Amino acid sequence: MRNAKGSLIRPTPLPESASHPVVTPLSPSVVYASETPDALDDQYEGRVHGYTYSREGHPNADVVAARLDAMEGANGGVVTGSGMAAVSSVLLGLLDSGDHVIGGNQLYGRSLRMMKEDLPRLGISTTLADPGDVEAVRAALRLETKMILVEVVSNPTLRVADLKGLAALAAERGILLAVDNTFTTPRAIRPLEHGADIVIHSLTKLLSGHSDVMLGYVAARDPALTERMRIFSITTGMTPSPFDCWLAERGLLSFDLRFDRTQETATALADHLATLPGVKRVLYPMRQDHPDRFRARDLLGEQGCNMVSFELEGGRAAANAFTRAADGLSFAPTLGDVGTTLSHPASSSHRGLTVPEREALGLSEGFFRVSVGLEDAGTLKSIFADAVAAAMEAS
Ligand SMILES: *Cc1c(COP(=O)(O)O)cnc(C)c1O
Repeated sequence: MRNAKGSLIRPTPLPESASHPVVTPLSPSVVYASETPDALDDQYEGRVHGYTYSREGHPNADVVAARLDAMEGANGGVVTGSGMAAVSSVLLGLLDSGDHVIGGNQLYGRSLRMMKEDLPRLGISTTLADPGDVEAVRAALRLETKMILVEVVSNPTLRVADLKGLAALAAERGILLAVDNTFTTPRAIRPLEHGADIVIHSLTKLLSGHSDVMLGYVAARDPALTERMRIFSITTGMTPSPFDCWLAERGLLSFDLRFDRTQETATALADHLATLPGVKRVLYPMRQDHPDRFRARDLLGEQGCNMVSFELEGGRAAANAFTRAADGLSFAPTLGDVGTTLSHPASSSHRGLTVPEREALGLSEGFFRVSVGLEDAGTLKSIFADAVAAAMEAS
């Protein structure tokens, strides 16, 4: 290949254009060239903005971070290669050996694993407590407690954390409150406005919304903490791919519409499920029969979430018949896709628990979690009615 400068390999000249693209260009470049060592000094010393090496930052990540900052009311947030990379940046980037952290007892599975296995191995002690019960969290506090990590709505039983109580407790003790806002999203709640110090996201889920991207995001109210997490994520190589960021940006453009639509459909589906013979109970935070409905209204306002859980009568045979008959819905272990997905905790996220442990959480063989997608409510209602009927025939 010869370019305009003869036999040189780079740079390939871009065609001139007096107009500019509407869509953010994808910048896969790993490395960025500078004019002179002086210019590089200016960049490293922060006198001018520029990129050097994409593990340290790149334009597509910055575009996504800026959008999320605006959504969460944050500043200078960090985009990471996965949601777990964001959780790791908080727990491993901010805590030291000898510290203690309290986690919600129904955190995301891998976050729980980090609390139970990895942090203790590194000398960080952990306690799990019910985030809906501030007194239980208070009782778990120690002198060396540095942080509380919770999710606003728990998976898969959709219980709502006492965020106001936890924020007051964290402020009283001068410790950090970190909130994983993946399920609820900034459309329903902005944790930093409710006293949280740190907000965490898996962008893989609703925010990107198409199940084709794995990314995370984290931001702290204190810029010094955000900076520590940024440096930790760079050093440990939690860097996001430019293409994933580009896809995430595209997903974010339609996020508000997708969220409003799916949470409206989720409300209708929850009410419909409750009328079906063979459905023992329905869990949806905005329903009148939900144990945390007042707290849900208080924290989430008119917005609920796109997740509905319910319990079928009958055991594994009914569950098998249900997923087989749920035509057109994916039985798949994720949430927040454009299409409706079903998950069955007993055979997936909670399979490592004993039957009594699962029963204590209310997770029988008939328990399903539904991540409602963009199908119209009428279609979904009829698919669920047919699938529940098929399950009852099989049990
Ligand atoms: C999925 C998820 C994570 C982890 O995100 P990944 O992008 O899969 O690494 C963390 N927290 C919650 C609440 C999640 O649902």
